[in-house]
Amino acid sequence: LFLYLIDIEISRAQKPKSMNQLAEEIGLLPEELEAYGRNKAKVQLSLLDRLHTQPDGKYVLVAGITPTPLGEGKSTVTIGLVQALSAHLKFNSFGCLRQPSQGPTFGVKGGAAGGGYAQVIPMEEFNLHLTGDIHAITAANNLVAAAIDARMLHEATQSDKALFNRLVPTVNGVRRFSPIQISRLRRLGINKTDPATLTPQEVTSFVRLDLDPSKITWQRVVDTNDRFLRKITVGQASTEKGQIRETGFDIAVASEIMAILALADSLLDMKNRLARMVVGTSRSGQPVTAEDLGVSGALAVLMKDAIKPTLMQTLEGTPVFVHAGPFANIAHGNSSVLADKLALKLVGRDGFVVTEAGFGADIGMEKFFNIKCRASGLRPSVVVLVATVRALKMHGGGPNNLGLVADGCYSNLRKQIQIAHLFGVPVVVAVNVFKTDTKAEIDLVCQIAKECGASDAVPCHHWAKGGQGCLDLAKAVNEATITPGNFQFLYNIEMPIVEKIRTIAQKVYGADDIELSPEAKDYGSLPICMAKTHLSLSHMPDKKGAPTGFILPIRDVRASIGAGFIYPLVGTMSTMPGLPTRPCFYDIDLDPITEEITGLF
Ligand code: ADP
Repeated sequence: LFLYLIDIEISRAQKPKSMNQLAEEIGLLPEELEAYGRNKAKVQLSLLDRLHTQPDGKYVLVAGITPTPLGEGKSTVTIGLVQALSAHLKFNSFGCLRQPSQGPTFGVKGGAAGGGYAQVIPMEEFNLHLTGDIHAITAANNLVAAAIDARMLHEATQSDKALFNRLVPTVNGVRRFSPIQISRLRRLGINKTDPATLTPQEVTSFVRLDLDPSKITWQRVVDTNDRFLRKITVGQASTEKGQIRETGFDIAVASEIMAILALADSLLDMKNRLARMVVGTSRSGQPVTAEDLGVSGALAVLMKDAIKPTLMQTLEGTPVFVHAGPFANIAHGNSSVLADKLALKLVGRDGFVVTEAGFGADIGMEKFFNIKCRASGLRPSVVVLVATVRALKMHGGGPNNLGLVADGCYSNLRKQIQIAHLFGVPVVVAVNVFKTDTKAEIDLVCQIAKECGASDAVPCHHWAKGGQGCLDLAKAVNEATITPGNFQFLYNIEMPIVEKIRTIAQKVYGADDIELSPEAKDYGSLPICMAKTHLSLSHMPDKKGAPTGFILPIRDVRASIGAGFIYPLVGTMSTMPGLPTRPCFYDIDLDPITEEITGLF
């Protein structure tokens, strides 16, 4: 009977344990917990100092084969697996998940709290505002945007002297630079701290960022699928004195600030990354940063609570951190470094932290290893690769035929296993079982997965049965972590950009070569964050399986200096999704008497 309940009913039927009880069970001190309502709490970063001598637990990454547009169950496997490890096998365990954007929740895909009997509860709170981190990112991002346009207006309408007098006001009879202004002066090569000693030339270079309106890369953001904001014109009121320009909105989770939240490993690191963000280029070709705009301190203030991971729990009371959710196509698609680090300390040497990477292993896992692990210094012991019969049939070329399932396994599944092996990490394949799958299909996938090099391959029934249905996976994961892995990065960070891109294209995607339209500027030793479709290993969404014999076209190469990666654009990536004719919001409603929400999934 329970199997016919929908996600929100299953979620609501289980009363979450109190945050105080959960905190006590996982070894948090009361003062390390900041409650947000009854079922969510932020955890203080000071915990890392308190536990710094504690050995880390085992680090497990959940990735997937190339998915169908519906998703193949990475979140449900992550949750089912920690439920099995914790509630059933009694290992200290923690799940680390991304915070979903409200764009998909009200748009096409729905929420991302898992599903069936593998969910984070209360799923409404997980899927909606959570603890306001995305709102903080939106506020910070848009403060930068407002600062850019206002600064251009002021520079266009004031003399150097007027700008200087306003930017460096007299306080108690003395003119003084702020610390942010002193660091801007240093970057301009002016080692002076007394405003009175600047030459007129130095005043000009100090007060004029001289942003080129056609070279501003910073966009505004909102966490709604609002396609009509993709291209807009700002500054049309007469008060803006003709400072009209075209710009646009991205979805909030595509903001560089979201990527920074996910990659920063301390408040200081986040602050420095926010300061380094490049918003555009001056007319003389110099990059202009958030620090040049004087806004970086304010950004750190807006983000100071967002940097703390949010603690929640699964249906079976397993602890979960929900923290950050950068877009997986344009950014790196992984939850935060800090949540993983805190969780690894909390579970201790014999415990497990299971973290999830977005999209297929060619995207989310490759970026997890080459970007997130480089930033964090953490090394995973095993990759769980989620596969479904329905996606394997798609890769094999059609429905209802065992032969096609096998073709899907020998193409996409095998290739994704090989990609994990490039990094020296063992793979356990988790076959996420759907009601419609036959035993013959499941057995075949497990058999071929092992033949293709997986350490083990097991069917998973977590969606229908919770942790109990995921015991075989938990045992296989435990087994796979016993022999230490042999982790290695795919490329040396010092290699020329083109070589790094070529290495990913050839070794991970299976391309013959790359074709780079513009000359790639050298941004130095930063990792690569490919912006590519998740629907194929190649750049062509309709090419399923494991395509070969193609040249990967790179349209442009851009950099997120604050986040710390270079992103080559493979085809056009949408940074602002749209709404379909009948979006998810049609089914979402509130009972005004009981305050119960319906229609989220
Ligand atoms: P991913 O994280 O890979 O995008 P999710 O775990 O979010 O995928 O699952 C996508 C959707 O499919 C969710 O709505 C989830 O409830 C549903 N789902 C996942 N596994 C199963 C299953 N075994 N049976 C039925 N529905 C499932």
